[in-house]
Order: sequence, then C-alpha cells, then structure tokens
Amino acid sequence: MHAMVLKKIGAALEWTELADPQPGPGEIRVKVSACGVCRTDLHVVNGELPNPKIPIIPGHEIVGRIDVLGAGVEGLNLGERVGVPWLGHTCGVCPYCLGHQENLCDHPLFTGYTRNGGFATAVIADARFAFPLGEIGGDEALAPLLCAGLIGWRSLVIAGKGKMIGLYGFGAAAHIIAQVAKWQGRSVFAFTRAGDIATQAFARSLGATWAGGSDEQPPEPLDAAIIFATVGELVPLALKAVRKGGRVVCAGIHMSDIPSFPYRLFWEERQLVSVANLTRQDGIDFLRLVPEMGIVTKITRYPLNQANQALADLRAGRFKGAAVLMP
Ligand SMILES: [Zn+2]
Ligand SMILES: [Zn+2]
Repeated sequence: MHAMVLKKIGAALEWTELADPQPGPGEIRVKVSACGVCRTDLHVVNGELPNPKIPIIPGHEIVGRIDVLGAGVEGLNLGERVGVPWLGHTCGVCPYCLGHQENLCDHPLFTGYTRNGGFATAVIADARFAFPLGEIGGDEALAPLLCAGLIGWRSLVIAGKGKMIGLYGFGAAAHIIAQVAKWQGRSVFAFTRAGDIATQAFARSLGATWAGGSDEQPPEPLDAAIIFATVGELVPLALKAVRKGGRVVCAGIHMSDIPSFPYRLFWEERQLVSVANLTRQDGIDFLRLVPEMGIVTKITRYPLNQANQALADLRAGRFKGAAVLMP
C-alpha cells in the first residue's frame, strides 16, 4: 500500500510505500476510495494535539470498500462500502462507555491521530466503528460527512431545537450543517471573517437567511450558535449574539485562548458548552437521514500524493467547502 505519512510533527507528509496491513480479530481492511481533509488533520500535523502516534497516517473521513475481513467480524461483508470516522475504538468498560458517552471514553483510539487513518490506499479499522454507507451518493461526496458532517450533526443536536441558528466559521462542517438545519426548517445565520464576501455569498447559496462578518450582530438574537472556527475571540461574540437562555456550542477539538469578557455576556442563563468526538449512535442517526436530506457537499479533489497541498490550501482558506483526497 501507499500512504502519506507524518514522520515528524510539523514536517511535510511523505509519500511512503508500506507492507499491506492485515486485519486482526474484529478488524477489517478497507480499500480507500476517498478521504476528506479535516482541520483536525492540520492540528495533528502542527502538533496542537497531545501524544499523537508518530509516525502516523492522518485522515479520518474515509470512504472505501472492505477487501479483507478479520476473524470474528459480523454484520459486514466483503466489497461493502463503509465509512471510517474519527472515533476508531473505545474501551467499552469505562464509566463513559457504560454511560452512553463513548465519545468521552477514557481509553479511546482516534483514526488518523492515535491509529493510522485514510491518507492511504488502505486502512485497517475496528469493524464495530465502521459505518455501512449503502450505495447512494458518490464516495468523494460522502467523505466530508464522516467528520465535518458527523461532528457538525452532534453540535447541532447539542445546540438544541431553537429555530435561529448561528454558524461561526463557514468551512466544511458549516456548509453541511447549514443544509441540515435548513432541511429541519430552521433559519441559518452564517458568520465569516469580516469582509469575506465570497464565503458569505457561498453561505447564502446554501440557504443561509443572513450572512455577515463575525464582528457583526445578527438582525435578531439567535437561539443558539455553533462555533466551528478555531478562534477563541469568537466565544464572547457568539455569547453576545444569542438570546437570554441561548446556547453557544464550541465544536472544535482545538481553539486559541478565549479572551476574558464581561460577565453580562454570559448572564441570563446563557450556556457555553463544547462538543468532543462522536458516538456511534450519532453516526447511525445522521447517516440514516443523509439520503433524505439531499445534502450537496462542495468538494475540491486532490490526488492522494498532493495531501500537503490540500493541507496548505485548507490552512490558507483557498477553497470553499471540503477537500477530498483521491488515491
Ligand atoms: Zn471507554
Ligand atoms: Zn475531523
């Protein structure tokens, strides 16, 4: 197999030939057909997340077909199309696993961070954490749903049922969740970098009721806001934009420091919460609805060996929507 491997934090990924991996008991080998590029991959490469496995193959928005079944795998078939997400393994016995919060497992493995991911022609996955994807939709169109979509979905659920939803940072996740929220009959308010007219127009084209700079106030107070951008300064701005009792959800795994802010922005029972990882139930709930929701993912394709370019373009904001690597 071939893979783009991170051999040292901060270094470029290296195109590497590796022995074909064999699945252990309970595992599958997936021939990768598309793998999305997520901001978390940038955090891994930049060393912003603690204790990555090094060397590591990044990538956790994997779509492919099972080409080897390990011993004891049940419910999946050779040739079946599956998605492999960020949550790669949980211990099953810690209080969080036992309490329906496996996203907070004490001993988890994360795809592309602490176990090898999908910037490769093949990947080994724990069969229990792979999602059957069926045959509706193209591989590359589905890839961004495996993290941007799933974490976005969890964030939207945690944001509550309010009708007026703000999205701060209109990248891969927001462009999917805007469509989901619209499908649910909500109104979407999209916040971008000040003056980013092109992204604001993109948000409106996906059904946003309003789009503007993150320094602006929405025309009406929001029921909830989700912050997808990694910018801590957005937290007080989002608190200011939500109504009394409103909720602000931080969806990122990493964020710059949150500046101090006056207590009155938080007062009146506003809530500030974060979302970490996903549970398998999130995936089941979201992926079941995907064919109905008619989500159109805007993707920019890169050959697998151009992964460094894709990461650089993501860092610089040079594309709208999501980047997808094609082996
Ligand atoms: Zn656990
Ligand atoms: Zn991700």
